[in-house]
Amino acid sequence: MKDEFWEAIITNNASYDDQFLYAVKTTGIFCRPSCKSREPNRQNVRLFRSAEEAIRADYRPCKRCKPAGKRLPNEDWVAQITDYIDLHYHERLSLQLLADLFHGSPYHLHRTFKRITDLTPVEYIQRLRVKKAQEMLDSTDYTVGNIGFMVGIPSSPYFITLFKKITGYTPAEYRQRHNRIDLGGGELDGRISEAADLLDQIHI
Ligand SMILES: [Zn+2]
Repeated sequence: MKDEFWEAIITNNASYDDQFLYAVKTTGIFCRPSCKSREPNRQNVRLFRSAEEAIRADYRPCKRCKPAGKRLPNEDWVAQITDYIDLHYHERLSLQLLADLFHGSPYHLHRTFKRITDLTPVEYIQRLRVKKAQEMLDSTDYTVGNIGFMVGIPSSPYFITLFKKITGYTPAEYRQRHNRIDLGGGELDGRISEAADLLDQIHI
């Protein structure tokens, strides 16, 4: 944990409330930095970016500062933006367009989005498009060019380059490998779960 964050916890600094939450291993409870709860031992503290994450790791929200009471404003804002991208990934999207739609400067949007999701908006859009393309390569016979177009990347060379950068394979190679897995018989399940693990890693 950065000294800056530890400092925020022991000084109950509310200006960090939209940046992280902290859990205490010994109590199993998580708080906002501003919470006036007893100062924990530093080595027992674990940081989270959202209440959802803390709850998933089996921590309970503090009754005093209610860190799960409502989403942090920035989290809410970014969730609206990712919802929008999830629905409109096949359209023309740009940082400027998102900034206009969601009333923030491109710079602020970029920074806030990255802090909360660990991806820039552009990276988020690219990964989503490639994921959708993978689904289509698996489940349809559409040409690579058509699939690129349908996921919002009309330039074929750019689509192929981006796909390879994110997955390690060109779309054609990806499709070929997956077809081979389908013929794999007994090893099928293992290989599919291997492929699924790979996909999960890509999306982290
Ligand atoms: Zn608390």
